[in-house]
Amino acid sequence: MSAANPNASSVPTAVVISIGEELLEGRIADTNSGTFARELLLQGLHVTKMYTVGDGIGELQALLTQLADHVDVILTTGGLGPTADDRTRDDVAASLGVQVIPIPVDGAVEHLAEVYKKYHDHPATEAFLAQASMPAGAEPLRNGVGSAWGFMVNLGTRTRLYCLPGPPVECISTFRDGGASEDLEQRFRAGSSLAHGVLHTAGAPESVVEEHLRELIIDGGNPRLGITANADKVSISVLARSEEPTEPAEHLLETTLQDLQQRLGTLWWGRDAQTMASIAVESLQKAGQTVAVAESCTGGRLAAAITGVAGASQVFSHGWVTYSDQAKQQQLQVPADLFEQFGAVSVEVASAMARGARQVSGCDWALAITGIAGPGGGTEEKPVGTVCLAISGPDTDYSICRLQFARAGRDAIQRQSVRDALDMLRRGMNGLPQLS
Ligand code: ATP
Repeated sequence: MSAANPNASSVPTAVVISIGEELLEGRIADTNSGTFARELLLQGLHVTKMYTVGDGIGELQALLTQLADHVDVILTTGGLGPTADDRTRDDVAASLGVQVIPIPVDGAVEHLAEVYKKYHDHPATEAFLAQASMPAGAEPLRNGVGSAWGFMVNLGTRTRLYCLPGPPVECISTFRDGGASEDLEQRFRAGSSLAHGVLHTAGAPESVVEEHLRELIIDGGNPRLGITANADKVSISVLARSEEPTEPAEHLLETTLQDLQQRLGTLWWGRDAQTMASIAVESLQKAGQTVAVAESCTGGRLAAAITGVAGASQVFSHGWVTYSDQAKQQQLQVPADLFEQFGAVSVEVASAMARGARQVSGCDWALAITGIAGPGGGTEEKPVGTVCLAISGPDTDYSICRLQFARAGRDAIQRQSVRDALDMLRRGMNGLPQLS
């Protein structure tokens, strides 16, 4: 989805700056910008630009000078560590015309010195202790998972600047738990007029999903809709803007999401942070039921998706990776003649795998996947991307052969197959028509 242009002066604006030569050289992919674009959006801010700057002396200072008083919020990540190229504090202090001073929190510097002592046989270097310092006049932001403190400070009369450490777990923790998010909320949330939500779908490609919504996707319209697609799902992002103080953005968001759910019918399965696996685990928990999986071409990824959800132990008991025909026969009691008659990649073998997995495990439901993930192994009759899936459950036995989008590669074929298996479970459990 393209960035929203709320086109309303009441929406506060923000800029995200990622700092580090390693980003400019492509050694590290910049994930922080995306993380904070979402965080700031959720706080009702409109991110208008993202920048990446190197570690050179004065580079950040030059950018801050250019941006000061032109946006409401600047958020930076990186350059707060103990090495010579970490210059964020110095550059911000130079922009403000102040000195860098120790963090005014009792024991902050001493604590760092103690940490250093654990790993070295000499006293902490100045550069290491500088991680507990900030420009004079700033407020410290506690980093609960690393050694570099963050800070926040006013830049000019309009701009609030938040400086966070670079490592992804550290910057998000310092933002959420160190005081930045709270400060931002107090300053901007009260006047916030944006609300953001995402609806997830499966079972139809992006073009089909778009057809259901075409009349709602209006350039510059409110709410603003965008579609993103990957091997796991097709998602619709909704950015709602309140135009009247009497109609909060959240209200418009909710009404829109409900409208979308109705239009999409059985295609939509979840919202925001939900995943197909989290929905599966939640539904099984609610129903007091269990699932087993039997996989071939996905090599355990279906089991990994389910067990990646906290609480999976209540609903998941068995998972088999039966890669060879022999394993399918030995472990899942798939009859040998099915391989000769239909081949290992067939709805007949997938069904037998699911039925075998259900019988051996004693679970309420079993899912099976067998297919050709490529790049080799395809034939004219069964090209790469041919994947057969089956579900066996109370009063349900269903199997299907799908041709996954193979040009995206082995990883994508596996992910699409995991998505489809979980979708079959969702449909089976809810009495919905199965994938066709
Ligand atoms: P420290 O040096 O103490 O780790 P720092 O605040 O100085 O913290 P950087 O040195 O800029 O942070 O980055 C440290 C590491 O954090 C990088 O090597 C990289 O692995 C990760 N990192 C930094 N910036 C980003 C980013 N924008 N996106 C993803 N990872 C990042």
